[in-house]
Amino acid sequence: MRGAREHNLKNIDLSIPRDALVVFTGVSGSGKSSLAFGTLYAEAQRRYLESVSPYARRLFHQMAVPEVDAIEGLPPAVALQQQRGTPTTRSSVGSVTTLSNLVRMLYSRAGDYPPGQSIIYAEAFSPNTAEGACPTCHGLGRIYEVTEQSMVPDDSLTIRERAIAAWPTAWGGQNQRDILVTLGYDVDRPWRELPQKDRDWILFTDEQPVVPVYPGYTPEQTQRALKRKEEPSYMGTFSSARRHVFHTFANTNSPQMKKRVMQFMLSTDCPNCQGKRLRPESLSVKFAAYDITELSRLPLKKIAAILTPFAEGTASRREQQETEHPEQTIVAQRIAEDLVARIKVLLDLGLGYLSLERSTPTLSPGELQRLRLATQLYSHLFGVVYVLDEPSAGLHPSDTVALLTALEGLKKAGNSLFVVEHNLDVIRHADWLVDVGPEAGEKGGEVLYSGPPEGLQQVEASKTAKYLFDGHEAPGHTPRTPTGWLQLSGVTRNNLHNLEAEFPLGVFTTVTGVSGSGKSSLVSQVLVELVADSLGQPLPTEEEEGEALERTEPIQTDGHITAGMESIKRLVRVDQKPIGRTPRSNMATYTGLFDHVRKLFAATPLAKERKYDAGRFSFNVAKGRCENCQGEGFVMVELLFLPSVYAPCPVCHGARYNAKTLEVTYRDKNIAEVLAMTVDAAWEFFAEEPPVHRALIVLREVGLGYLRLGQPATELSGGEAQRIKLATELQRAQRGNTLYILDEPTTGLHPADVEKLLVQLNNLVEAGNTVIVVEHTMRVVAGSDWVIDIGPGAGEEGGKVVAAGAPAQVAQSMESKTAPFLRHLLG
Ligand code: ADP
Ligand code: ADP
Ligand code: ZN
Ligand code: ZN
Repeated sequence: MRGAREHNLKNIDLSIPRDALVVFTGVSGSGKSSLAFGTLYAEAQRRYLESVSPYARRLFHQMAVPEVDAIEGLPPAVALQQQRGTPTTRSSVGSVTTLSNLVRMLYSRAGDYPPGQSIIYAEAFSPNTAEGACPTCHGLGRIYEVTEQSMVPDDSLTIRERAIAAWPTAWGGQNQRDILVTLGYDVDRPWRELPQKDRDWILFTDEQPVVPVYPGYTPEQTQRALKRKEEPSYMGTFSSARRHVFHTFANTNSPQMKKRVMQFMLSTDCPNCQGKRLRPESLSVKFAAYDITELSRLPLKKIAAILTPFAEGTASRREQQETEHPEQTIVAQRIAEDLVARIKVLLDLGLGYLSLERSTPTLSPGELQRLRLATQLYSHLFGVVYVLDEPSAGLHPSDTVALLTALEGLKKAGNSLFVVEHNLDVIRHADWLVDVGPEAGEKGGEVLYSGPPEGLQQVEASKTAKYLFDGHEAPGHTPRTPTGWLQLSGVTRNNLHNLEAEFPLGVFTTVTGVSGSGKSSLVSQVLVELVADSLGQPLPTEEEEGEALERTEPIQTDGHITAGMESIKRLVRVDQKPIGRTPRSNMATYTGLFDHVRKLFAATPLAKERKYDAGRFSFNVAKGRCENCQGEGFVMVELLFLPSVYAPCPVCHGARYNAKTLEVTYRDKNIAEVLAMTVDAAWEFFAEEPPVHRALIVLREVGLGYLRLGQPATELSGGEAQRIKLATELQRAQRGNTLYILDEPTTGLHPADVEKLLVQLNNLVEAGNTVIVVEHTMRVVAGSDWVIDIGPGAGEEGGKVVAAGAPAQVAQSMESKTAPFLRHLLG
């Protein structure tokens, strides 16, 4: 590769071997992804797409054409990138791995049919086809209904007092009431005293009479006006409460509206298919006594156990069938063999606890990437380069060996692997290392080393070398003493059954365990919900992703807090979700530091003279922004058949503001120039302005000095978003008594960045707060005050507290799968 200049890359020349495991290392923001994905993968994709018809190209998520002079010897590439925050498409484990297709084939061709039923096609075993879907629930498995009780929760109220809670609020509800007045219903009698016939009509009718409406008239005045045929204010259309609920549910684009009407809907298992989503004919076909839905709900590990005897030809099927349909036995064996072999790859990657039915939005990005990896392992491609993004994310050290074996398998099959990784065990396993740095952003973008791992030891400037070759010993740490305990009892969720757990307060706790053992269920789900509930704090809304509507089975959840809440005043989750989904949000707006900057501009003499307020300096407000691009700084150019390109706005040239606004300067810089500064530069520039400076100090401390203040949220990685959130918390006045919960905060972080993160988390604890972190990195676990190890295995083989105590204590546990790795590190 010659002359790579994508993002921060500094005109890089590089030679890397094919048919090898090449690992790209470097601190967060150094340019690893820009090299591996932004340049190598993007170029491979571009070349491939040239051979594809323009029409088909539209179906690809096309990368931008990379800034690079030349690349030679590049094989076709397959990217297995982690989707950061972006909602994944609605699919299931079975469809992503294509295992569901095979299972349907198995049922169609080798299933046990009831006597007299003819063979049905594989499609009829999918709830997503007309042939397969249960006709009652259309393949959803649940039916939604409304009842008088669900829509009228308090029947002592009158209609005027809004007895019909399911009707729209504000004007919409008044309108319906006025229509009822015209229709002669008594809106001033308690609901329960109205005749049942009237109540049923008002709630459930499909009729939509259009009637004259006289808002503000009493019922008597209305009746008189009707008799006189007085001109009405308008004609109103009646809509029963049920109609309103279902219509809104089906048609609204607003998640809030959807959520509001959902509270009036009851969902029950479909009575026809019992929630199994398929036609009775499809469900009547069994394999090993399971119908296809039952099989799809079992953990993969169990399915493999059921199918193995068939694959090996040792299963005894009905003798009659053997003689009458010998071909069926052969087909069963073939398909079972294939299924068992494919599932084995998933088991090896530590995913045996998943079921085929599990929907992908409920999987972690790491689990999803490993599912895709497993699918590739079985695709028998040859001569391809796989580009992977931190495949170890979410993996317990005991699962990492299997990952390495899987990567080795792809390589042996004749492929190349380019992997962006932070995990030292994976890095040590590389055939070739490319270390990018030395630091992030402008201070990075150079190749510090390219060669076999041992050679990196000589490279002074490398931050990776220090961690890779220095001894294993963890930094000495004396655990702090808890100030109290938060106790949970009767916790039931996913694989946790009636669990007791206690979390120490005022210290730093890590929760460990193999992937799928139940850490997230306990910490990110139950603990977060119970504490938020107890504080009366609203939960962050997830319905954007439409997940609540997707769920086919209601999740069983239970548990309560028995002690410890008196010393928790606030709950904060710091996750890796984007700080905004549009280029309109950025670090400066998110942290609040931009508010102060805008006030400084509004206070300049020129701004005062022209009566510009702080709002004038926002690119989201019409007054000050460039109208041509609406403050975006660029305009989108749609190209038929090609990815749309963003071009700088021809009017403001990317400045985002109109010319008048840009005339105002603060210490010789206009507002656009300030947004273009890096945190480091701004830290010097605003040294005399305490509110701005304070925010910048913390941003530097969390290692984000290289980011530009106005860098759009959409360009930030998950790790960067997380650190911005953390910095925003840290700059608040330290109140103490806050509970911070983080799920795998070290994902995407170089060991050097992890160290910075730990300093910040420890600062939070020193200030009187509690920090609870789900974690796999043993250095972090060793440096915490308390460890709770969940396990021992995954899925139903986990879900218990295996060991709890100070790191040194847990390291001695005989049952814990974490203990050996912790012991190794603690020396
Ligand atoms: P790494 O993978 O090492 O964490 P990246 O390659 O993602 O680093 O980023 C390298 C630099 O390029 C960083 O300064 C980052 O902010 C910047 N960058 C990343 N994505 C974009 C983008 N889409 N547009 C502009 N700059 C970007
Ligand atoms: P960990 O965080 O330790 O990797 P999880 O708490 O995510 O483990 O998962 C524990 C078990 O619960 C696994 O068997 C997993 O498949 C199951 N599980 C987790 N989340 C969901 C969900 N949203 N729906 C169904 N099952 C789930
Ligand atoms: Zn049904
Ligand atoms: Zn513009």
